[in-house]
Amino acid sequence: MSLENVQDEVAAERCPASSSLTGVVVAEAVQRRSGASSMPLNVVAFKFGGSSLLGADRMLHASSLVRAAAQKVSVTVVVSAMKGVTDHLLSIARAFANGNCVRAQREAGFLLQLHLDVLRDLGLEEEEVLRVCHDLELLGRDLLYEVSSQSRPSASAELFDRLASFGERFSARLFAAALGKSGVAAVPVSSSDFVLTCDTFRDAQPHLEQTKERGREVLLPLLEDGLVPVVTGFIGATPDGRITTLGRNSSDFSGAIIAHVVDAAELVIWTDVDGIYSANPNESVEAQLLHELSYDDAHALAASGAKVLHAKVLPLAAETEMVVWVRNTFNPQARGTRIGSPRSLRSMVQQEELA
Ligand code: ASP
Ligand code: MG
Repeated sequence: MSLENVQDEVAAERCPASSSLTGVVVAEAVQRRSGASSMPLNVVAFKFGGSSLLGADRMLHASSLVRAAAQKVSVTVVVSAMKGVTDHLLSIARAFANGNCVRAQREAGFLLQLHLDVLRDLGLEEEEVLRVCHDLELLGRDLLYEVSSQSRPSASAELFDRLASFGERFSARLFAAALGKSGVAAVPVSSSDFVLTCDTFRDAQPHLEQTKERGREVLLPLLEDGLVPVVTGFIGATPDGRITTLGRNSSDFSGAIIAHVVDAAELVIWTDVDGIYSANPNESVEAQLLHELSYDDAHALAASGAKVLHAKVLPLAAETEMVVWVRNTFNPQARGTRIGSPRSLRSMVQQEELA
């Protein structure tokens, strides 16, 4: 099926985040923005992957997607590190663990500069540049300290997680700044402030209930103030405050966790393909873009080896009945893939309940 057809077919559903809203809901959101109501917030979670955030132009483009949605609903954003940054941080960790402090320091300086270059390219007002630059430099200083000869790693898996966490911490600051430039008031939030995990470093499991409780205290006041929180994916912390990561490529999972925390009805995973395909489109000419999947279908696809989403997204989404969209940042006109309870099934159930 050609993309053109897909676009025609779904012309009425260009922006799932807003199209799923009824007029009443929109009216509530507008009321809330004018401060006239304390109705529960209608929240959508947007998760952006590393390729959607690679450089200032892409960050500004992704910001325009948030701006469009934020006019209608509250948006919570979850970000990955910029593409390639986590790999780079892990190679710094390896160099440091092998005693190559000089190399680790040099590479850490290079990574800081990479993020400062993106800041420069965002074209912010001078005052804003100074503020964000200060934030990035503080982070850079911490990173350099981690790989300095004064710092002695206690346990290396723990050190790897601490170092790997810097990518998301840099990108959340930059993306919040990009949103500001696009006219959306945003604040970076570190998920290690509320995503509570066990201490299995490099594959930490979140404690969902406590995470939800703590996360609401952090995020709801921001949403109520009309701000967009830009939350770091991938990272959490143990109860005694040590940084953990949820495993490689886990920021989709972070997206689902944070969507759950704010009771978002929808999680949109913005990536660099048009959605989920029946087979790898690079390997099979018969691969078809799938528009609608049940949680079970998506789970079966993932189990058959298809690269769908991080394995832990679907169970959490199914349990919390959250609709997950997989959409293309670089082709936002395309509808993407919707994973959720089949709509027809849901209405049948409702009819039965009414009968
Ligand atoms: N930045 C992390 C990684 O590369 C998490 C993610 O992108 O999903 O593994
Ligand atoms: Mg990634």
